Amino acid sequence: MQGARKSVVIVGGGASGVLLAAHLLRAAPASVRVTLIERRRAMGQGVAYSARQQDHLLNVPAPGMSAFADDPEHFWRWLSARGLAGDGDRFVFVPRRHYGAYLRDVLAEASAGGELVVLNATATDLTTSGDGVEIALDTGERIAGDIGVLAVGHEENPARSRGIAVRVGSDADTPLDAAAAVMILGSGLSMVDAWLTLAQAGHRGPVTVVSRHGLLPQEHRPAPTIEFAPEDVPLGQDVRRFERWFRTRVECHIRAGGDWRGVVDALRPYNQRIWQGWDTASRRGFLEHVRPFWNIHRHRLPPELHARMVETIERGQMRLIAGKIVDLAHDGAAVRAGIRRRGAQAIEMASVARVYDCGGVTVDVEQSSNPLIRALLARGAARPDRLHIGLDVTAGTQVVAADGTASDRLYALGPLTRGTFFEIEAIPDIRVQAAGLTKALLSAA
Ligand SMILES: Cc1cc2nc3c(=O)[nH]c(=O)nc-3n(C[C@H](O)[C@H](O)[C@H](O)COP(=O)(O)OP(=O)(O)OC[C@H]3O[C@@H](n4cnc5c(N)ncnc54)[C@H](O)[C@@H]3O)c2cc1C
Repeated sequence: MQGARKSVVIVGGGASGVLLAAHLLRAAPASVRVTLIERRRAMGQGVAYSARQQDHLLNVPAPGMSAFADDPEHFWRWLSARGLAGDGDRFVFVPRRHYGAYLRDVLAEASAGGELVVLNATATDLTTSGDGVEIALDTGERIAGDIGVLAVGHEENPARSRGIAVRVGSDADTPLDAAAAVMILGSGLSMVDAWLTLAQAGHRGPVTVVSRHGLLPQEHRPAPTIEFAPEDVPLGQDVRRFERWFRTRVECHIRAGGDWRGVVDALRPYNQRIWQGWDTASRRGFLEHVRPFWNIHRHRLPPELHARMVETIERGQMRLIAGKIVDLAHDGAAVRAGIRRRGAQAIEMASVARVYDCGGVTVDVEQSSNPLIRALLARGAARPDRLHIGLDVTAGTQVVAADGTASDRLYALGPLTRGTFFEIEAIPDIRVQAAGLTKALLSAA
């Protein structure tokens, strides 16, 4: 141990890193020292909560977003104390930047009684020994601790854009002619963010959205959630049988006057176990064939944003294409895209001023642009999960090395663990994982 306190070094100060730091410091202020390494200047922001726009909203009603599962009103009280909870209607979707500010306050409050060190740097490598971990930073410094936790979150620079499609807000996203035609690859929540950013900048040109199935996120509605007893949920069956069971339950619920949202949300406590009960073939089948449909029902849009989007489509400014990009090339100042519509053979050509990459945050972890992940994989200190959607971790989130050994020094948290848990992207899941890891690390002390 580094001194009398157990020293935990967390790489990544986005939502996951901040939640873990806050849980550790609240639980054992006198016996842990937390070091948080974050390459951005602000803590608690990451990809989701760095959004500055007023209409970049949380996609979960505010009362569901507390940092602490055992204090579900925590975020709601924070909003109310600042007059940000509106008229008190709890079915409210507040700007995501409020959540970033909330996380910073959560961290500040938790660190008041404990020992927190925040370092603004990029971690480039991490080695473990019997004594602990050592983390190399791009500043040349080396940070030692008893335990290391990877909370590096989402891939921010996916290689799939072939250097042509750009991320909204990146350096390559230079100002555009307001009337220019643009294309967005992907039709999920990141696409909605990109479209809102364009709209805010006064863009009025045509927007073509291309995704495999051409599906838009559904809208949130206040719908009572039913409850499943554990014995109702078919665990350990293959994905096709599960899908049939699920469809039948939705149909029955709707026939009885219910709303499909009640069934989707009722599965939440079981989602990780359902995933874990599938073999690799079922998991792969789910990712390839079911996930696009699951995502639009599971990750829904606040009603006001959904209505704006539908209106933009009806007005003809946005068109949605189900298909695949088979060719993407610069053509002078423009970009030429070849699209094969779903079920068609012919290739349709389109010329646009810019193509945006909103293809989602899950990429093959072996293609990671993160220097730390690359270093760990190259050295065999970590390995991809079987589907390559994250790192291989145990149920206790210990990182598994290339030789199959689970580390007792290195852990992972949040989206990086999606191969083992799948549903580990949203705050209600991450806060539970952070609480579990806190308990494990403190009891190991
Ligand atoms: C657009 C969007 C909207 C969302 N909205 C919601 C919502 O409304 N409600 C909800 O519950 N969930 C939402 N989510 C889910 C969201 O994924 C999680 O809530 C959260 O972003 C996960 O946080 P994270 O810290 O694990 O990852 P990230 O947000 O990716 O943060 C990781 C952090 O690690 C840092 N980092 C990475 N590598 C290094 C390194 N080598 N050295 C130093 N620092 C490093 C990064 O700079 C970053 O700050 C949303 C997700 C997205 C993408």
